[in-house]
Amino acid sequence: MSAATPPAERTPFPEHGRPVDELLRELQSRKSGDTDWQGGRSPAFVFKAEDSVDTIGREAFMAYFAENALGGGSAFPSVKGMEQAVVDMALSLFQAPAGAAGFMSTGGSESILLAVHTARRVGREQRGNPRHQGNLVAPETLHPAFDKAADLMDIEIRRVPVRADLRADVAGMAAAIDADTVMLVGSAPNFPYGMVDPIGELSELALSRGVWLHVDACVGGYLAPFARRLGRPVPAFDFSLSGVRSISADLHKYGFCPKPSSTVLYRDGAQAARQPFQFSGWPAGRFMTTTVVGTRPAGGVAASWAVLNHLGADGYLRVAERLLSGIDAYRRELAAIPGIEVIGQPDLAIVAYGSRELDPYAIGLRLGERGWLPSLLRRPKAVHRMMSMLHLETIPQYLADLREVVGEVRAKGLTAGNAQARYG
Ligand SMILES: *Cc1c(COP(=O)(O)O)cnc(C)c1O
Repeated sequence: MSAATPPAERTPFPEHGRPVDELLRELQSRKSGDTDWQGGRSPAFVFKAEDSVDTIGREAFMAYFAENALGGGSAFPSVKGMEQAVVDMALSLFQAPAGAAGFMSTGGSESILLAVHTARRVGREQRGNPRHQGNLVAPETLHPAFDKAADLMDIEIRRVPVRADLRADVAGMAAAIDADTVMLVGSAPNFPYGMVDPIGELSELALSRGVWLHVDACVGGYLAPFARRLGRPVPAFDFSLSGVRSISADLHKYGFCPKPSSTVLYRDGAQAARQPFQFSGWPAGRFMTTTVVGTRPAGGVAASWAVLNHLGADGYLRVAERLLSGIDAYRRELAAIPGIEVIGQPDLAIVAYGSRELDPYAIGLRLGERGWLPSLLRRPKAVHRMMSMLHLETIPQYLADLREVVGEVRAKGLTAGNAQARYG
């Protein structure tokens, strides 16, 4: 085959352009095979608060569709101003002391990568060892974005089994710390069970051992403070705990902002200042970026600024109250289905359920056949959902299907064979 002839299965580069309306129609029709996420049938990936939040997020994103947040320091001071305002609002929400600082990023994985990098840099400077690699100590429920960061930076991750109640085992983590530990991590909440680790105890441990504590509040950071204000028993997790040095919190999850949008925040502005990358050894000017990525959609910045201002604390409280009370009812109904049990004590909006008698994967796969895309956990085997207002209205339908599926799985003794739990 000559180099000019692409393999038949590869999409050729289009010879001729196509009109706008035709392509827009095709985009809509391409969606027809996707999961009906508007109908609450996707277990994760998309979030919703209220219709007006979608509207302002979309309109604000489009108002800054072409601008580039990389140019915030030069061409687009308005973008930089909104970015700083979003960071300030986040620092206030998380009770950061004066002198704290932070940055926006394109997502939880990037915020985590940046926090790990900054902690290692600060640790290298404190140790006077510019090549120090070190290790990171965390509960086994830690999000794999940390393993990705560790893989990229050649850091060892020590995952410590959780306690019987599925929260971080602080004593076990204490035993895993050594002189090379550059970071302790707790989640608020963790992805698998939706439970907040005992961050207060981790904060004490971090202070007593002189180790950096990062709180991964990627998934719950913008919901937990409002749940706490509503009087719900969500453990403290933010900068009010003096051992917490950094927090990652995603706006594009329970901040209900358009993707891509996250925040990474530091107690100490001087340590935050170690995050940006600077370079001058090339023919162009001084290069400085705060994020891993260079070019960044300003739409994510503008939309986040607009959504935070549109909802305000009273709006987030209203959404949290409706969402969490809906989820309370959902959990009660789940627990009332014979054979089904909720895993652990979910603190916020992630709920996983399993069974001691029936194969949870068989239940998940049968729900999948009814159009409810399943997300599965491995330990324990469970069905997992990250719930937002998209799911609330369809809870009765979901539960009706689940009851039937549970009946089928029980009556026929169904198992799922070699089904695999996956993420993404
Ligand atoms: C989603 C999530 C992340 C990663 O965030 P992305 O925006 O998908 O990169 C990190 N930690 C937790 C606990 C999460 O749920």
